[in-house]
Amino acid sequence: MRLILIGPPGSGKGTQAKLLTQHLGLAHIATGDILREAIRLGTPAGKKAEPYVKGGQLVPDELVNELVADRFRRPDRPERFVMDGYPRTLAQARAFDSVLAEQGLNLSGVVYLEVDDEEIVRRVSGRWICPKCQTPYQLQSHPPRKPGYCDYHPEEKLIQRPDDREETVRERLRVYRASTVELIPYYRQRGLLREVLGQGDVETIFHAIEKAIQEGRQEG
Ligand code: AMP
Repeated sequence: MRLILIGPPGSGKGTQAKLLTQHLGLAHIATGDILREAIRLGTPAGKKAEPYVKGGQLVPDELVNELVADRFRRPDRPERFVMDGYPRTLAQARAFDSVLAEQGLNLSGVVYLEVDDEEIVRRVSGRWICPKCQTPYQLQSHPPRKPGYCDYHPEEKLIQRPDDREETVRERLRVYRASTVELIPYYRQRGLLREVLGQGDVETIFHAIEKAIQEGRQEG
């Protein structure tokens, strides 16, 4: 199984990619993680990527394409995988196609997690964390026992991360819609797109993804 997961920030893409990894034994390739690791190690790619990642902007295509291509050209290249956060632009999708073709690997499907903007803003801007243990709370779906305070550190007042504030979430969504939306028709035309409603609880969404992948396999 070789999958790409596409979805807006806050759609639960990372959570679903982890579940797919565990259930189907796939390699989880998250370009956000690869970039953060390169930055931490201070590699040349990490140094170039740092200002973009810090500013919430997309890293230039050539840089992220090269990191992914390197990963697939290594002797221990992933055979079965789920891509999380890549490709994010049409240029990246084309570059990824050439790497896969060169490696003789074909895609099984592209799962598109759909969540409307209002739901994302509600989810992400309702997220508060404990400054001491980082436990996340969600005001609507997972509130703390005592409003505004951590369950484990009752003296700690919950805080909100700066990039989870409503205006920042809306900006991240704008970047997503402007750059990633072109991937939808690109993969749909090739019969690879599987649309899944990313609303509801984690398990329900996971089953919907499994079903969509299965149906796609029967058709193709
Ligand atoms: P993520 O963890 O997927 O939200 O990615 C964190 C940050 O890494 C993004 O805000 C971008 O700055 C950068 N990034 C990750 N994947 C890509 C990509 N495919 N193209 C460009 N930038 C990326």
